[in-house]
Amino acid sequence: MRIVFIGPPGAGKGTQAERMIEKYKLAHLSTGDMLRAARDAQTEVGKKADEYMSTGRLVPDEIIVEIIEERLAQSDCQAGYLLDGFPRTIAQAEALDKMLGEKGTPLDVVLELKVPEEELFQRLAGRGRADDTPDVIRQRLVAYRDQTSPLLDYYGKTGLLESVDGLGTIEEIFDRIQAILDPKAS
Ligand code: AMP
Repeated sequence: MRIVFIGPPGAGKGTQAERMIEKYKLAHLSTGDMLRAARDAQTEVGKKADEYMSTGRLVPDEIIVEIIEERLAQSDCQAGYLLDGFPRTIAQAEALDKMLGEKGTPLDVVLELKVPEEELFQRLAGRGRADDTPDVIRQRLVAYRDQTSPLLDYYGKTGLLESVDGLGTIEEIFDRIQAILDPKAS
């Protein structure tokens, strides 16, 4: 299965992503993780990305699209993958469509994890990651609302979008996700 996982920062995507990759045997492609690794390794891409990440803004599309294109070519992606945190803009979604169209490997489903904005700020402030200062949190939420949420319309039109209520226990939410993915898994 080829899955795109969309949700605002703090929605609990990471936790659910871990369960999904284990149950459905998917490669986990988290652009946030990739960028943090690049930043920690002090590569050119990592240094450039950090200028944006540290203020809660999105890293430029060209950088991200190149990273994903290289990653999708690797052999562990052939059996299926979960794109976690990508695409985050319409331009990234269009680039992904083009890439997958050329390969003849379309997406199977786009999952949205839905959590109200009031709840997100509380969760993020409580998480305490080094980049989670109040200003950065606010900026990340703004980036989601302005740049990423338009993807819901974009994928809604393709018929691929499935929305999951992100409130509840980890188990309850994973049950909702399984109810959507089980029928698609073969
Ligand atoms: P995440 O761990 O997914 O919340 O990502 C952490 C940060 O990495 C984001 O706040 C962005 O600065 C950057 N980032 C991750 N994925 C993307 C993407 N697809 N496009 C642009 N920036 C991204």
